[in-house]
Amino acid sequence: MIRSAEEKMQFLFALRSKGVTDSRVLSAMESIDRGDFIRGGVFVQRAYEDMPLPIACGQTISQPSVVGLMSQALRVGPRDKVLEVGTGSGYQAAILSKLARRVYTVERHKRLVKEASELFHKLDLSNIIPILADGSHGLPDQAPFDRIIVTAAAEDPPGTLLAQLKIGGIMVVPVGQSDAVQSLIRVTRTEDGYEYDDLRSVRFVPLVEGLGRDT
Ligand code: SAH
Repeated sequence: MIRSAEEKMQFLFALRSKGVTDSRVLSAMESIDRGDFIRGGVFVQRAYEDMPLPIACGQTISQPSVVGLMSQALRVGPRDKVLEVGTGSGYQAAILSKLARRVYTVERHKRLVKEASELFHKLDLSNIIPILADGSHGLPDQAPFDRIIVTAAAEDPPGTLLAQLKIGGIMVVPVGQSDAVQSLIRVTRTEDGYEYDDLRSVRFVPLVEGLGRDT
């Protein structure tokens, strides 16, 4: 799918007007085509609209402005090792791959991992490592991380994930009941503990324990 210059301008304008102002995040979002992450069907035509859309396994690709705001809140630096829990379509991981040194992305549905892996390969995003696993346990083998982003809603910031943050590390996670509006929380790990910022309200699918039934 090829974006027209006008579609691209409108896409970036919508992001800015919703508060995505970080120039590194905007240029990452300019360079990754969201249309690639929406497989077929009628929805591909809506790829550049600021709305979540359905993907396989009953999951969703997040709204572009939310992807932008979460990427911005994460304050990713070019040397950072990032963990994403909830690969879904792979769109958020692709944006992060332009901002970080390396992105580990974990997903519980085998089909989504396979499709996202193929896409990362096709788009030459070689610093993304997709992994089939229950991300609620994080990724102990690769911990600690500079940044952790959870793109599914947890009832509390998961303790196992907090423990896998470096000192000075940042985690962004939607917190709350899955069928209600949730709060997007930024947690910063300090020498003495954790600091919490409540950023905005969001709506995500739930963080579910165990692997998906398609595995
Ligand atoms: N970041 C995605 C959107 C995520 S939707 C994107 O850019 O498209 C949330 C995803 O989290 C779903 O694909 C869901 O299967 C996954 N998920 C939920 N609980 C999980 C868990 N415990 N471990 C790994 N992935 C999980």
